[in-house]
Amino acid sequence: MSQSFLREYNTIVKDPRLVDILVGYCYPSTYRAGMTSLATHLFYRILNSREDVSCERYFRFDTKSPIHSIETSRHLKENHLVTFSLTWEEDIVHLIQMLEKSAIDPSANKRRDQDPIVVVGGPVPSANPEPFVDFVDAFVIGEGDLVINHIIDVMKESSTRAHALELLSGIPGVYVPSANPTSIKHLIIDRIDDLLYPVAQIIPDVPEGSKLEPVFGKSFLLEVTRGCGHSCRFCLVGHICRPRRARTFSRLMQIVEEGIENTPVDKVSLIGSSLGDIDQIAELSSWIVNKNLELSAPSLRADTVTFELLSTLVKGGQRTLTIAPETGSERLRKIVGKGLSDAEIEHAVMLASETGYKSVKLYFIIGLPEESQDDIIAIADMTKRLARKSGLRITASISPFVPKARTRWEREVQQSVEVLRKKAGIIEKELRNHPNAVMESSDPRNARIQAALSIGARDLGRVIVLAAKYGGLGGWRRAEKETKVAFFSIANDPNRKDDALPWSFITH
Ligand code: SF4
Repeated sequence: MSQSFLREYNTIVKDPRLVDILVGYCYPSTYRAGMTSLATHLFYRILNSREDVSCERYFRFDTKSPIHSIETSRHLKENHLVTFSLTWEEDIVHLIQMLEKSAIDPSANKRRDQDPIVVVGGPVPSANPEPFVDFVDAFVIGEGDLVINHIIDVMKESSTRAHALELLSGIPGVYVPSANPTSIKHLIIDRIDDLLYPVAQIIPDVPEGSKLEPVFGKSFLLEVTRGCGHSCRFCLVGHICRPRRARTFSRLMQIVEEGIENTPVDKVSLIGSSLGDIDQIAELSSWIVNKNLELSAPSLRADTVTFELLSTLVKGGQRTLTIAPETGSERLRKIVGKGLSDAEIEHAVMLASETGYKSVKLYFIIGLPEESQDDIIAIADMTKRLARKSGLRITASISPFVPKARTRWEREVQQSVEVLRKKAGIIEKELRNHPNAVMESSDPRNARIQAALSIGARDLGRVIVLAAKYGGLGGWRRAEKETKVAFFSIANDPNRKDDALPWSFITH
């Protein structure tokens, strides 16, 4: 089946007869989400820079076929190695669907010698791979650019599937469940300056606003930092991607120069957590904008924004400033570990107004440990106050707390769907009819699924495989009923406080 419906720049096509290893790089979600992920560009480039490898991409949705590659319609099963990047917990069902559709047995222990080796990486399995072990031959725990070449070398050396798995289990940071290791070290790269960087990124030739356009539009993704220097109690990045590492200014300039020469775009999207902490971020932004490039930045910490930085981002075309107070009250913000004062948040929003932003998005979490009714009201009050004072359109984006493995709040309970709905309802009511203040929220039922998959154990495999078969939210309910595994109760089980943690074998 041809996928020629989509024209892209910078794809790489090789004759499969002239390479040793065929790799299928899969993103188990939409094309748009997958192409917004820097990992897609990074691993595509690393793998295809080897003469002995051909790597082609697969997406679950919005392409002609989830099991035929974008580049040449290569069937997923024809690859020697099938890799998945798992960024969101619920995408595990899409991963299984892709395997099933391509006639690769979703059960790792039923695969035969001629089947591809299935390797999964990304933040979700790096925190806790245990719910997914039934489906995966090997996980990469942590930063995969450290071991991807080693994995390919092992694939070339091995004579059988069993031999490949045995060799893979010897690579630090690679977790082969069938080898039953007692500990696995999370991979962290010390110096990111020296890493290969994908300067020729794939850009789809689609009109603006197309569902195939990446989230930041057609832009060059510039990873400025990895990890975060803070450690908010709920946050996965702040715990498993430590320490924060930054590229040097000179290296970033070199990457942008080469990137713009090789990628047909006139926009740069900065990638990294808490970028305002970086010494030269204003200088870098201004250097990019002065090259007549558009610029977008991710969520910034309110205590790091300056007039200079925001003016530059506005000049670069950014219209919405995103900051994450997380909670409405200073009291709870301190408990969370965010350490931002109300005054600092207000100062950032007023700076946004002065520098020409049109709107501000504020990220909040509800259902946090030690949260009171007053903290919920404080979210609405802050949103209204900032809208009134700044004159900007302020959106309060509300998400339920999800306890994540390997964070300091990994043992905390998640509140019931009913309680979370009620809390979101209070904020919505407070903001209703208020000029310039609006609320958007995510479904607490999805948060319940995310929580179970974040902190669950191996027994969830039975639930996951049925949820993949039935599909949708109802599929999870039906799977819970049929397996009698209390999937939806895992995250609010108070007894979990004393249980052994399934991911305790992962060391930092
Ligand atoms: S919430 Fe933001 S500032 Fe806090 S640890 Fe996570 S990425 Fe860092």
